[in-house]
Amino acid sequence: MTILSAEGLHLGYNDLEVVHGVTFDLRQGEVVALLGPNGAGKTTIMRAVSGLIRPMRGSIRLGTHDLAGLAAHQIVGLGLRHVPEGRRVFGSMSVAENLRLGGYSMRKRPAEIRSRIDEVYGLFPILGQRAHQLAGTLSGGEQQMLAVGRALITRPTVLALDEPSLGLSPRISHEILSTAARLARDGTAVLLVEQNIRAALRIADRAHVLELGRIVLSGTGAQLAADPQVEATYLSGQAAPTPGRDAPVDRKAGH
Ligand code: ATP
Repeated sequence: MTILSAEGLHLGYNDLEVVHGVTFDLRQGEVVALLGPNGAGKTTIMRAVSGLIRPMRGSIRLGTHDLAGLAAHQIVGLGLRHVPEGRRVFGSMSVAENLRLGGYSMRKRPAEIRSRIDEVYGLFPILGQRAHQLAGTLSGGEQQMLAVGRALITRPTVLALDEPSLGLSPRISHEILSTAARLARDGTAVLLVEQNIRAALRIADRAHVLELGRIVLSGTGAQLAADPQVEATYLSGQAAPTPGRDAPVDRKAGH
């Protein structure tokens, strides 16, 4: 079942268009990755999906709702949470307080919020161990876990994760991306933007490669990981090769 769909999206800043007609969807249980070099337009798409910028043209639908014209907080209310690049936890508040803030808009009983916070501690046990520590004293990886955990308090149907592994060690990146894959299986579909293409392809059910605001390649994570063009253009230089699998890739070059 399709949860999120973007069709013919044209996006930009002021009058300058930087995303030129992008179409993709996200189905229940899936991780879909948007990949590509700096400036390709990935973050701009995340901003549009979460209501931070309005499309110049095209549509974005979340379930049965057309997101056109909705404010970011209304989109949160419909079940989509965005974890922007750069973590942005409240450094002078404790881990537990940060998580409570995640549920601030829900008007739930404190007991309900507490049980959701416990779910986050189940997902990221280190956060439970650091519940009373100031978020600003956490490591980069722990702060990223907290940012993800805070978004999960409202039990979103879609989690939009922008560069969750940026600046983190391979081990912590792996932990965060594996958790994202688990979340997808458990009912929170994940739209993922990653600069670590190899790691993203390992967990993505499907992925799109963007260049200069257009999708130039699409396929399953396994197909793209095995594609020689992806290997030559984007993966050489990135760590740890994965076993190759031959599969066709939907090429959209020439758009
Ligand atoms: P990166 O990994 O570098 O963030 P990206 O694929 O996410 O790359 P975007 O950040 O979406 O790319 O940028 C796409 C284009 O939009 C770039 O040309 C960028 O300079 C431009 N851009 C991004 N943010 C703004 C902004 N706030 N105002 C004006 N132009 C912007």
